[in-house]
Amino acid sequence: MKPVIALVGRPNVGKSTLFNRLTRSRDALVADLPGLTRDRHYGEGRVGERPFLVIDTGGFEPVAKEGIMHQMALQTKQAVAEADIVVFLVDGRQGLTPHDKTITDFLRKSGRPVMLVVNKSEGMRYTAVVADFYELGLGEPYSISSAHGDGVADLVEEALDLA
Ligand code: GDP
Ligand code: MG
Repeated sequence: MKPVIALVGRPNVGKSTLFNRLTRSRDALVADLPGLTRDRHYGEGRVGERPFLVIDTGGFEPVAKEGIMHQMALQTKQAVAEADIVVFLVDGRQGLTPHDKTITDFLRKSGRPVMLVVNKSEGMRYTAVVADFYELGLGEPYSISSAHGDGVADLVEEALDLA
């Protein structure tokens, strides 16, 4: 089985941008992926000789009890349960939000290995872009730019080492 990377984070942090970069928009044929639920966004990627599967998620809204936000929360939970490694994306331009803290609590309870990844970091100094996020207690943050590609290959190599 190829390792599974789940992309998790609140809306607009850049999950789908990263997904598209990792898969170059080649969506996997979900029928070929036994055991994986079919109603999310799966893709296949490769870094060097190492293939992997990646799951995009629609966002994360843990307080909603019904409706589309509730569905998205369920999908995110399912994706995390299927993941070998969770890439938790936050937004380096917006900084830390309460929503990020809620997601952190959920991920910690999930017991899955998590990489904290600060996106939208192009043109910013590493120390400045990550400073806000140490208090989440998820270790040394990674920084990437999904839009420009900075740091993305290194991130995936690291994720596959941890998966
Ligand atoms: P999602 O809701 O988490 O899937 O986020 P999207 O991938 O749809 O991106 C939300 C917005 O952030 C879009 O306008 C993207 O163009 C923008 N975005 C994504 N990645 C980056 C990045 O690395 N740098 C900057 N500056 N903007 C980005
Ligand atoms: Mg998206």
